[in-house]
Amino acid sequence: MIMNEKNCALCGAAIRNYDAFLHHFNLGEGLEKDICSRCSDRILKHQQEIFAKLFPTRAAKKRYDRK
Ligand SMILES: [Zn+2]
Repeated sequence: MIMNEKNCALCGAAIRNYDAFLHHFNLGEGLEKDICSRCSDRILKHQQEIFAKLFPTRAAKKRYDRK
């Protein structure tokens, strides 16, 4: 018997080896979602791309300020 089988809120796939610590996202205001590792990786990459575009100078500055 499979207990607590969860499906990803984004892609709908069953989450293997479900672990609330890894896969449960509490977004606040009563909004809680389960997201599989693959989708959370995609979100992380997406966030990093956005961050790199929004703050391109910050990374560059760091590189030159270190001297
Ligand atoms: Zn997913």
